[in-house]
Amino acid sequence: MGQITLEKVTKRFGDVEVIPPLDLTIEDGEFCVFVGPSGCGKSTLLRLIAGLEDITSGVIGIDGNDASRTPPAKRGLAMVFQSYALYPHMSVRKNIAFPMKMAGVPQDEQARRIDSAAKALNLTDYLDRRPGQLSGGQRQRVAIGRAIVREPAAFLFDEPLSNLDAALRVGMRLEISELHERLKTTMIYVTHDQVEAMTMADKIVVLRAGHIEQVGTPLELYRAPRNLFVAGFIGSPK
Ligand code: ADP
Ligand code: MG
Repeated sequence: MGQITLEKVTKRFGDVEVIPPLDLTIEDGEFCVFVGPSGCGKSTLLRLIAGLEDITSGVIGIDGNDASRTPPAKRGLAMVFQSYALYPHMSVRKNIAFPMKMAGVPQDEQARRIDSAAKALNLTDYLDRRPGQLSGGQRQRVAIGRAIVREPAAFLFDEPLSNLDAALRVGMRLEISELHERLKTTMIYVTHDQVEAMTMADKIVVLRAGHIEQVGTPLELYRAPRNLFVAGFIGSPK
């Protein structure tokens, strides 16, 4: 569970075609990184997959089923927003429980999933605090915890570490990679940071002006960038 396919997906905002026809398959369990400069369409693509934005044409498939018109809550995907999207007036426990409450998950099952997510993210001692009483890294873990408890088919991250300082970013990068190792759930991770892309990805999708310049493993892109744009982005010596 967690294969995502895009077939000739396009997106227009008014007269502007932000995503020209785009084909891409993300395999079940893959850690796929979308990388590219600001404004190239990374967030738009992620929002189309999540269903937060309607595609203009094409098909989005999830595990072989056409999900193009499926509402976001029914796609089985969890978007991880930056930590400032937490509810400041709610405890960590309530923040994490919130999506389960919305989905009508029974109380005892909620407690089990919170317990398990808190253990995985080292938040067990912080469940009764409010977000304002946590460090930036802890807040980001709560945002991830809120996604984990939905037991999604895939996690969608949009530059989750961009408002953390450099040292913290390295630690969180490792934590997210470890989480992927443990859960083996599909993750799509958007970043404009090539180090994140190179160190975290099974597969990197290099985007430029809404189209895919190249797809490959970090090593493939490093060894054989298709052009100077990709080489520049990946930091390879071509
Ligand atoms: P990235 O995340 O790679 O920085 P975005 O996906 O946010 O890029 O934006 C891609 C392009 O689409 C940009 O030119 C942006 O201005 C445009 N865009 C994004 N959202 C909207 C919108 N709601 N209405 C109009 N244009 C938009
Ligand atoms: Mg963006």
